[in-house]
Amino acid sequence: EGLIVKALSGYYYVKDNEASPGDKAIQCRARGLFRLKGKSPLVGDRVVYELTENGEGTVTELKPRTSELVRPQVANVNVAVLVFSVKEPDLSLNLLDKFLVHIENEGLEAIICFTKMDLIAEDDVQTREEVEQARALYTSIGYEVLETSSPQGLGADRLRERLAGEISVFSGQSGVGKSSLLNAMFADLDLLTSEISLRLGRGRHTTRHVELVDLGSGGYIADTPGFSQLDFLELGVDELPSCFREFAALADGCKFRGCTHLHEPQCKVREALERGEIAESRYKHYKAFYQEMKDKKRRY
Ligand code: GDP
Ligand code: ZN
Repeated sequence: EGLIVKALSGYYYVKDNEASPGDKAIQCRARGLFRLKGKSPLVGDRVVYELTENGEGTVTELKPRTSELVRPQVANVNVAVLVFSVKEPDLSLNLLDKFLVHIENEGLEAIICFTKMDLIAEDDVQTREEVEQARALYTSIGYEVLETSSPQGLGADRLRERLAGEISVFSGQSGVGKSSLLNAMFADLDLLTSEISLRLGRGRHTTRHVELVDLGSGGYIADTPGFSQLDFLELGVDELPSCFREFAALADGCKFRGCTHLHEPQCKVREALERGEIAESRYKHYKAFYQEMKDKKRRY
């Protein structure tokens, strides 16, 4: 059994479950679609394969998928690392909430990384407070938040440990420090990471095929950033309330089933908002996304 780490020109490259990080993936063909129950294999699929005489293999069975991302097209991703710099560019909670909607919709775990912590000047109290508040907010909702600085190596060990055994994607605008973070995490594996970091960096991720890179810890990372197109086309507006975790936790108490938390009476989410138990920024972004999704529907 193994994991498909790359797909190219009709071949699937399978890393055997028993292989060590340095071992080569086995070049396989897939047995007829019929035998795979009508599904085509994807990078990230866990498969059963048989070795053939020429040292190649044949994929004979696909294991059930736990998730299936579209951008990049990878199966079984379970963690998304959301990379946001605190400076250059400034932290955007609007964009962060947008990423979180997509991640909740895909059922992935999120790890939020605030990068470039070293760029906050000693006397820049305002930015320091904003970052602290954001960290407290997202932690209280139940997300894991890490503060990192790649030149100082801050947070890199923690993240590396966290990604062991997971299939992860890195997401975030270009220039926020995704590649630098990877390099800080895997400084000892630099050949490998210089390759991924090139691809995770600016503008290099438009058309190429995704590949999973073996982190040597039972973990794999997609070499293409995830969720690069953050429109809401694939999401129904009815699904939005459940993508805000702290709203979803209260929604059972709302008077109306399917409450949108916008105008219905006896809404637990709006009550919590008034008591200050739900952050204004989260509610504001929720309303804005809701409107954006409605407008999109109208246009298409
Ligand atoms: P990517 O496009 O998300 O992969 O971003 P890069 O890793 O290429 O980083 C963009 C720029 O930010 C580069 O000039 C990096 O040197 C710089 N950078 C990245 N991380 C940090 C950090 O933690 N601290 C500082 N001071 N600069 C950083
Ligand atoms: Zn409600």
